[in-house]
Amino acid sequence: KYMTSDEIREKFLQFFEQKNHKKLPSSPLVPSDPQLMFTVAGMVPFKPIFWGKVEPTHTMITTCQKCIRTNDIENVGKTARHQTFFEMLGNFSFGEYFKKEAIPMAWEFLTKVLEMPEEKLWPSVYIEDNEAYEIWKKIVPEERIMKFDKSENWWGPVGPTGPCGPSSEIYFDTGFTDDCPDVENCTPACDCGRFVEIWNIVFTEYYAKEDGSFEPLARKNIDTGAGLERIVAAIQGVKTNFDTDLFKEIIEKIENTLNVKYGKNSKTDTSIKVIADHARAVSFIIAEGILPSNEGRGYVLRRILRRSIRHANLLGTKTAFFSKIIDSVIEKYEKIYPELIEKQDFIKKIVNAEEERFLQTLEKGLERLNNIIKKGKISGADAFELYDTYGFPFDITEEIAEEKNIPVDKDEYLKLMKEQKERARKATGNKEYAKSNKAYKKVGDDLKTTEFTGYNSLNETEKV
Ligand code: ATP
Ligand code: MG
Ligand code: MG
Ligand code: MG
Repeated sequence: KYMTSDEIREKFLQFFEQKNHKKLPSSPLVPSDPQLMFTVAGMVPFKPIFWGKVEPTHTMITTCQKCIRTNDIENVGKTARHQTFFEMLGNFSFGEYFKKEAIPMAWEFLTKVLEMPEEKLWPSVYIEDNEAYEIWKKIVPEERIMKFDKSENWWGPVGPTGPCGPSSEIYFDTGFTDDCPDVENCTPACDCGRFVEIWNIVFTEYYAKEDGSFEPLARKNIDTGAGLERIVAAIQGVKTNFDTDLFKEIIEKIENTLNVKYGKNSKTDTSIKVIADHARAVSFIIAEGILPSNEGRGYVLRRILRRSIRHANLLGTKTAFFSKIIDSVIEKYEKIYPELIEKQDFIKKIVNAEEERFLQTLEKGLERLNNIIKKGKISGADAFELYDTYGFPFDITEEIAEEKNIPVDKDEYLKLMKEQKERARKATGNKEYAKSNKAYKKVGDDLKTTEFTGYNSLNETEKV
């Protein structure tokens, strides 16, 4: 019997606790950092420490962090290794240990605790990072150490200046070569999917300055991110993250609810994976109080939810189903993330309302889209109409266009969106103006004064 995801998560945290790390609970998906939409990595809650703005209470920390990555939405269901919601395991050092400790610890955990076969692990280092290379050389044969450039093995700075540094990653050889065009020469540099990046250690050792130069940091930090879903897939010997025990009950629930079978047909599987992934993301996002809306986090939620409803439609389900899938997500995670069970009713209520709303226009929208497709292309105006009249987030239109192999004019769509926002802003501006006008007038009347400054302050607010 294989190791379960719960055991692997627990073993990771225990391993680093035994190595004197303080175990902290996951921070929220909605970060306190106003510049970030969601927590995208385990290091996000510690940003002020990395930036040197706050002194750490603990200099060695381990966590399992809930993450959402919107940049991976399109990958979901297509690659084996991407989710929108996933858990990132991490060990962090703030000025305590560095490369020569962090690398062997990662190795010990993977090969001794999880007992991964050594020959299946391929490290990578930044091409100029001889220090990391020398450390790996003592651990694995040189043929297996990859040297990559900044696009792969470098982190930061976020913005023009700030902390940054090289990274070292560990790839797992899944042995699945069916999609490889050149099996003989396949290494982690090949993107056939055989090698999966499971672990990333960032060596935050420089400060990028305005003039483009790097200054060594006084306090060098370690930031590790290891994807739980990917490690579990490696340990359980399955081809995709969706075939792990993390998704088993959720996918079974989708099979039963939508009356479909997983593992028979790749198109069906993609839809099932999208729904399974999105059900997790939706549950965790709503649990933090985010509601579907047309902007910001709420719009990410709406896009994710509507994309899954469209995939269910593809699978032949035209009625509300989503809250049933939510049940299986909550069951799977309630012990680790009790916020799900606390917010259970709320999550389902929101999901039901949004689903009902989208189902009112989905069929008609698909019909309209089918007519548009006959023209051989989707114009920006078409995409905008689908959004505005039928509530189709652009992702859906784009995904369908891709399936039909026809172009869609994104630039024109974005231009029309911008114009609409502008109009909406002016319209609400006027409404606000009228409302405020009344309110201000009332204040003026109440004060029985002729010195009425309401309009001036209104102009001030309008500037913002
Ligand atoms: P990839 O190159 O595969 O997209 P990444 O380099 O973007 O991954 P990192 O930013 O290095 O990922 O994040 C650290 C780790 O988190 C990765 O090594 C991986 O194990 C995990 N991870 C990253 N993105 C995802 C995702 N979308 N779904 C599941 N796990 C992920
Ligand atoms: Mg990525
Ligand atoms: Mg990568
Ligand atoms: Mg990486």
